Amino acid sequence: MEYVKLINCMRCGMCLPVCPTYKETFLETASPRGRVALLRKLQEGELEQSERLLEFLSLCLDCQACASACPCGVNAGELVAEFTCQRKTEKGLGFMEELILRRLVPHPDRLESSMGPLRLYQRSGVQKLVRTLGLLKMFPRPLERMEGLLPELPARPLRQEIQEVTPAAREERGTVGFFLGCVMSLIFSDASRATIKLLSSLGYKVITPRNQLCCGAPNMLGGDLEGMKQDARANVEIFSGYDVDFIVTDCGGCGAELKRYGHHLEDESASAFSAKVRDISQLLALHRDELRTMLKPLELKVTYHDPCHIAHCQGIRAEPRELLKLVPGLTFTELNEADACCGSAGTYNIQRPEMSDRILKRKLDNVRSSDAEVLITSNPGCLLQLKKGLAEQLPQVRIMHLTELLAQSMEGESV
Ligand code: SF4
Ligand code: SF4
Repeated sequence: MEYVKLINCMRCGMCLPVCPTYKETFLETASPRGRVALLRKLQEGELEQSERLLEFLSLCLDCQACASACPCGVNAGELVAEFTCQRKTEKGLGFMEELILRRLVPHPDRLESSMGPLRLYQRSGVQKLVRTLGLLKMFPRPLERMEGLLPELPARPLRQEIQEVTPAAREERGTVGFFLGCVMSLIFSDASRATIKLLSSLGYKVITPRNQLCCGAPNMLGGDLEGMKQDARANVEIFSGYDVDFIVTDCGGCGAELKRYGHHLEDESASAFSAKVRDISQLLALHRDELRTMLKPLELKVTYHDPCHIAHCQGIRAEPRELLKLVPGLTFTELNEADACCGSAGTYNIQRPEMSDRILKRKLDNVRSSDAEVLITSNPGCLLQLKKGLAEQLPQVRIMHLTELLAQSMEGESV
């Protein structure tokens, strides 16, 4: 880790009020400033890697709200992630990490096969029985958490369903490569179907390469930098086989990762790939005037949760709001602390259930105060976490991906 990144912190404390773990604990060691200080002391040899120290560092969600607030460009979340990667490189991957991060996640076909038993579990009625009888309490805690987060799975992953090339629905204005995120394909396939439909309606030919791999974000979460680079190299090569104007994704986590391929791989083709990447809201916002004429009224009270990977990691805040405000009849209310993490953060909600639940509660309290009927967001992790939270605590509020709502407005369907 570059020492200069650690000494840039001038200890002003401007990051403290935005850090979710500091807001919950008021502990300096659970704040961005404290984490930077711990990493600095480690590097200077004044501290050892004790369990307690690792515990404080691992409480970080890598939400990067601190980076948005810091006047000195310090990114505590990224520094902690870098430290985790360094440790993992020194220690090597464990058996299960190797199995999940290298042999399962990067292979869409294996990932899809692994979901088969879960689909059967849901469709056979066993899930309903397990939940009704409260049998989940007998599962190990992480398994109980994972099961609780699982929404109803679509009949088939979207990757198996869509054509590699979706033609433009009108005079063609360009070609986009669509990066279909794993979780979007496996769980939120309606949202990605809506994304492709919107792009096609606006005159884009959409190419979704069938052999694309995971973006590598799960590897980064697990500290497996080399695994992420392997996925990145493969994806850069796959997309370089197509002549596309943009590479679009509707998954905030994927978008943040894809935009950093150039930084991680440090080569020209990876930089060219990253330069073409756009979050779907960025591309749709370029056509806002046209979209305005295509959208039909939806009488709804809506609010928006900024995924960390979109607001803090990609700096996209205005576009999703502008797009929502294009829908006739829609009432948009700004959510209090809209860009605060929801507590999902990859597998944080499974590994750190108590802190995750505290952070989620704060988010749900803000949703309740907004009086919205529909909560919009654009990242699968947030969708999973908030869907579960809303079902338990605010069942009257529905959650949708941004593109689902826009596509329904375009179709003139009621939500
Ligand atoms: S990380 Fe940035 S905002 Fe936080 S205390 Fe240091 S300089 Fe200030
Ligand atoms: S990344 Fe998020 S949780 Fe971690 S120090 Fe920064 S604000 Fe706090």
